[in-house]
Amino acid sequence: MLQGLTRRRVVAGLAALFAVVTGNRRALASAPTKTVRLQKWRCTNQDCDPYIYDPSLGDINIIDEANPIPPGVAFEDLPDDWICHICGDPKSHFIALNEWVEVDVPA
Ligand SMILES: [Zn+2]
Repeated sequence: MLQGLTRRRVVAGLAALFAVVTGNRRALASAPTKTVRLQKWRCTNQDCDPYIYDPSLGDINIIDEANPIPPGVAFEDLPDDWICHICGDPKSHFIALNEWVEVDVPA
């Protein structure tokens, strides 16, 4: 099922994850935060090229632009009416990727 492109992206994602983990361990010495491991999700609309929800980045949140999604929010915890900010597709049109990020959030 995994195609070559997907495999390369997973490898790239793992490399990035190791960098994040290494960096976080150093930064965590005294910070009042905890590290959570969250999954990336991809919009399946071909027009999106694609858009990937990355929990380490959050989202601009076009359904409520005054309240952007902050880093550290799991895809599952996005509002039910949250939509892709590029194509407007709902959460149900996203698929989970085998790519994870570690994010520091308030403890
Ligand atoms: Zn989209």
